[in-house]
Amino acid sequence: MRAYGHETDGVTAVPEEAAYLAAAAKRLLEGAATLADTAQWMTETAGPTVFGRPWSPTTLRRRLRNPGIAGLRENADGELVEGPAEPLVDRDTFDALQELFTRNERGQGSRPAHVHLLSGGTAVCDLCDSPLVSRSTANGGRGYVCETAGCGKVRIAAEPLDKYVAERAIARLERAGMMKRLADLRDGFVAESEEAAKFLDGLRNHKDELARAFGAKDLSLGEFKKAKEALEARRSQAMAAMRRGKYLGELPELTVEALVEWWNETASQEQRRALLQLIVAEVRVGPATVRGSRRFDEARFDILWR
Ligand SMILES: [Zn+2]
Repeated sequence: MRAYGHETDGVTAVPEEAAYLAAAAKRLLEGAATLADTAQWMTETAGPTVFGRPWSPTTLRRRLRNPGIAGLRENADGELVEGPAEPLVDRDTFDALQELFTRNERGQGSRPAHVHLLSGGTAVCDLCDSPLVSRSTANGGRGYVCETAGCGKVRIAAEPLDKYVAERAIARLERAGMMKRLADLRDGFVAESEEAAKFLDGLRNHKDELARAFGAKDLSLGEFKKAKEALEARRSQAMAAMRRGKYLGELPELTVEALVEWWNETASQEQRRALLQLIVAEVRVGPATVRGSRRFDEARFDILWR
């Protein structure tokens, strides 16, 4: 029996099914629907599973946990690598889903395990300037990794780096004028997230225009692909800006005492990350000086403050 979203060859995507899985993932990640709600929604809108049965939460979770939906497979070391299947959802969506399921399996109220404070563009590859992405490592931990084609030379354990940068950032709150500066930055980012929301609203039109221009031969295939990629990049940025705006709206009163208490007692990892992004512009990470060394090496990175 084939898996939902792929043909029996396990490689070729079934576009309509892929769209339903992506929509189900979106509902879950937006936090508006539970797994049970989403399974029911699948049965009602997408129809039954490939076995002809209604979707159960377990069936849906099992499918969304399968790396094949992101075009990945697990290698002998348990690492996720590129596989043969056509991706049905992008890598970020897949990773976010795994984090969500892991969090839910650990029970309500526990802190998300895998939201990394410097993900979302703060940690940057010093060699190629690309944002590092947070990925599982072979030993079960998480790392920030450069995945840019032609580079890919930087990889650093996430936990110790997060801890170090967070401690420095929190200590920095005491500096004179810091609260005023945070307020200004926050307001700027919130305004940016409103702009991003408008851009995302208009995205469908941008895409249609592009497709029309290509259809009318105003664009070559190369130009069309380039423009599509640029639009995709702007979409990711806009989504990130919107998320940041949402979490910044949840900050407590901007005093050192309130922020420190909030950080230690009540903030979620997403909320902490939003505050950190107000304090830290970038953490530039260079390659390991000693190959394979696990030692935490302060000389490997630079923190650029806002
Ligand atoms: Zn790089």
